[in-house]
Parts: sequence; structure tokens; C-alpha cells
Amino acid sequence: MDVLDRAIRRAHIAYFSMEIALQPEIHTYSGGLGVLAGDTARSAADLDLPMVFVTLISRQGYVRQEIGADHTQISHPDPWSPQEWAKPLPHMVAVAIEGRLVWVRPWLYALTCPLGHVAPVLLLDTDLEQNAAEDRRITDRLYGGDAAYRLKQEVVLGIGGQLLLGALGFSIRTYHLNEGHAALLTLPLLRATQRPEPQSVASDDIYEVAGIRARCVFTTHTPVEAGFDKFDYDLVERVLGDYVPLDVLKALAGSDRLNMTRLALNLSGYVNGVARRHAETTRALFPGYAIASITNGVHVHRWTHAEIGKLHERMAPNWAHEPEVLAFADTLDDQPLWEAHQRIKTALVARIAETTGKPFRVDVPLIGYARRMTAYKRPELLFADIDRLKELARRQPLQIVVAGLAHPSDRGGQDAIQAIGAHVAALDGVIPAAFLAGYNLDLAGALVAGCDIWLNTPLPPLEASGTSGMKAALNGVLNFSVLDGWWVEGCVEGVTGWSIDHDPNRPDDAGPLYNKLQDVVLPLYRDDRGRWIWMMKQSISKIGSSFSSHRMLRRYVIEAYMRQGG
Ligand SMILES: *Cc1c(COP(=O)(O)O)cnc(C)c1O
Repeated sequence: MDVLDRAIRRAHIAYFSMEIALQPEIHTYSGGLGVLAGDTARSAADLDLPMVFVTLISRQGYVRQEIGADHTQISHPDPWSPQEWAKPLPHMVAVAIEGRLVWVRPWLYALTCPLGHVAPVLLLDTDLEQNAAEDRRITDRLYGGDAAYRLKQEVVLGIGGQLLLGALGFSIRTYHLNEGHAALLTLPLLRATQRPEPQSVASDDIYEVAGIRARCVFTTHTPVEAGFDKFDYDLVERVLGDYVPLDVLKALAGSDRLNMTRLALNLSGYVNGVARRHAETTRALFPGYAIASITNGVHVHRWTHAEIGKLHERMAPNWAHEPEVLAFADTLDDQPLWEAHQRIKTALVARIAETTGKPFRVDVPLIGYARRMTAYKRPELLFADIDRLKELARRQPLQIVVAGLAHPSDRGGQDAIQAIGAHVAALDGVIPAAFLAGYNLDLAGALVAGCDIWLNTPLPPLEASGTSGMKAALNGVLNFSVLDGWWVEGCVEGVTGWSIDHDPNRPDDAGPLYNKLQDVVLPLYRDDRGRWIWMMKQSISKIGSSFSSHRMLRRYVIEAYMRQGG
């Protein structure tokens, strides 16, 4: 166990996340938040940072998506095998839930980078024979169940995780709360300090003095009030008893319901949004708080297809460790880059044929759209006017591939999947189109490297950041997206990709999308391949050199962790 021993001696920054995407076979993630946490862990390993990662084991995964005959999503459990990937540790701690003791045991996953450095990831598990049957299921289903189930999961993650680090012998100086789910880790910190006088509970000073704020960094990922986890205090009392006095909780987390975002905001000395635009939106939502911004990034080595990576190897052998040197990717030779892209696309076309039986072509532009299926991302906008789309394709052929999971209780997302299935069928014979089931790390890797155009149509300002477009850009796949989230910073019109005009008064109008596709994007692909390849290189060099998780994490270290106690 020298991995663990070394981690215990070294790590003083603990990164808490409800989900972390480590491997396609490890189903501890649902989407972008988990992929970001996984990319962060990879960068932490590459940079050999003194960090430990804490998440839930999620034995039954998130959702295994099956598409039914009527195009609906059928949501199955998605179990995985922890024993094949991680080691159970002998340590356990107990948290009180509904008056019962619930034991929590960590499994250790050693994330090892090519240089041999390790980032330790602790996967918290309650499936222990000491626990009551219902408590054994708390760490089964990621984002599964009702509010009580979610609260119990957050108790295990936050309180269980914080106590476990102590039990294992870690001396943590800085806690990074990746989204509000982890905010309950502040409660054991609160308990360990003197209880403030009730009348001064709301005072900032008390908590500065208590030192909690100096130890907590909070990254918020949601720009809408409705996206915050909130729990009725009746439920909180039932689950947590008087672990922390209710008046203290109410002063810190909201008087009507326990708002995890508010709790995290009030107890974190450094708070940031995940893109410049998102930080602005968050400041408007929470006036009076200092909200910094650190724009998300992606792990450049993980998301650059090996075919493209080979080209970088010759140009700048240190590109994976120092993604800034990708700025020189604009000097890549055209022909090898194009040929690499076409080989990657050929593999994707073969995969589409294998899974759907549909013949796509390598010489026709391929538009990709893949992300969590939910209303604000407007996955149906491309299909808003099927006749117009068909007309457009008769003059300039195109192909469409779509993928994405919907949360089982997200009606809007479920409906979108069904509607897209019907649109795909309606395009039959005119536009090759396919919905690929089971969006995950592996399929994402194939799509973000194998398409030609990466489409994103969120309703501004609701896309906090978005990261799949960064992955596409790394592979010379050109972004075509509404200006929101990271794209506000990444888009240089006609250079790194294209924006899609958005009129807030006509949010469902796909006209600007169709017009630019017809007048700018598709003609460039058809008539000026040299300029297209030039744009591919601009995309790789400008976006690859600046939107990496290495850059992001270095900023967290200097601007957040070091400014705090860490
Ligand atoms: C990158 C990624 C996401 C996030 O994509 P967005 O563009 O932020 O919506 C979600 N799921 C998977 C599997 C990913 O790889």
C-alpha cells in the first residue's frame, strides 16, 4: 500500500465530487461534471500535485441507455466491478443517518499517469454487512432515488468522506467542493469548532475565525436557481438529527430550505464559476459574494486522438505535459493532418454502420451533437424545420450523428430523445442521420475526433461552460455553437469555428443556424478545403493551448489553493 502511504503523507488538498469519470468501465459518472473531475485528477497525477480525490463508488452506475422501438430511452442500472479496478481499504468510519450508524468504507483507485505519478481516488462504499439493508444501497445509484436518497448520498460523500480522510491519517489543509453536492463536508468542520452565539451566526467573522472558509474552495457549475440541490429542513432533521443545530444550518444554508450552493458559498473563502460568462451569471444570482472565474479545461492527452497525437509528437514532444506548446500546431503540415482526420472519421463511420446499420460517407461533412439531453441544451434545434434541413441538404450534402443520456426523471430530456429519434427517421433517404445509444467516455472520444463539425445550441446563459467542444477543437473538429459558456472565450469567428446568432425574443428560431450552415460552413468544406484545414489548425493551436485541464488546475493551485491555507 505504498500508494496510500505516500498519499497520506503528501496530500493536503482534497477534491470532493459526487461523480468522477476515470475509465469507461468505471461507472462513477453521468456526464460533464464527472468528466471534468476525471480530467482534473489526470492533470493532478501528471503534475504530481499533493491531492486526493473523494467520490462515491456508485456500484449500480448512472444509466445504461437502451433506445426502444418508439425511440424512447429505457434506463437500466449500469453496474460495474469495483474489485477489478480498485482495492477496498480496511478503514471504516460511521455516520449517523436517521439515527442509525451507517458505516462507510473507501476503495482506493490509483490513477497512474504515463510518467508514473499517482493520483489517489477514494470511492466511498456503504455496501457493508454491518449496515442495514436500505443503507447498503446508499452508494448504489448515482443521482438515483428521491430527495432523501440524494441527501443520504451527500451525507456519505461530505461527512463520511471528511471523517474518512481524518481516520486514514490525512492532514487536509484545503477542501475543494466540486459543485454543491459536497457541501456537507463543512459540517464536521463546523462541529469541530466552537459553536458561535446564535445572534452572531450570520456574521462572516465567526467563520473566518473558525478557519473553515480559509480551508474551503467552492466551484459552482450551475447558472440556474432550479439546478441547486435543496432539501426541506424536515428531511434534514430526520436524516441528520441535530448533527449541527438547525439554527446554525438555517443561517448558513437558507431559512426555508437547505440550499447546498448557499451553504458552500457561505463557508468557502474562494468561490468560482467555470467560465467568465458563468461567473457573471452567478454574481447576479448571489449578489454580495466574491465569485471568481476559472474557465474549465480538458485533459489534452486523454482527448487528443492518437492519430493527431502522433503529429504533435514530431512538432513538440512535450505537448502532453505542457499543452501551451500546442500554440505551434498551426505549423502542422496540411496533408498529414487531413489524412489523420479522415482515418479517424473512417473509423467513426464504420462504428455508426456497425451499431445502426446506416451507411455514412467519409467524403460528406459530418455534424456531431452529443451531450446530456435536457431542455436548456436544446438538442432539437437542428431539427426545428425538417423541410428546410432537407432542402439545404439536397444542395449541399451533410450527415448528422447525435448521442446523449437523459436523467430518468428529466421529462424534457426524455422527450427530446424520442423526438430526435423521430426526426432521424424522417430524414431517411435524404440525410444520413443516426442516434447512437449509450453516450459515455468511449463514444465521446470517437465522436469528438471523428466528426467534422461540432454543434452546440444551448439557451444562453444556461450553459455554464461546456467541455465537449474543447475536446472536438483539440482534434481539429470545428465548433459551430451559440455563444455561451466557454465558447464566448474560445470563438474567433471564421478562425477557430463559428458562432450561431441567438435572439432572446425568438429562442426557438433555427433560422440563424440554417443560414450560416448553408452560406458559410458547408460551402467552405466543399469549395475551400485549404481554408478548412487552416481553420482545423487554428482550432487545435488556439483552443488546445489554452483550454487544457493542466492550465485550469495550475490556476486552481495558484489562485485558490495557495491563497487559501493549502
Ligand atoms: C465531455 C463530456 C460531457 C460534457 O459535454 P458538454 O459539452 O459539456 O455538454 C458529457 N458526457 C461525456 C461522456 C463527455 O465526455
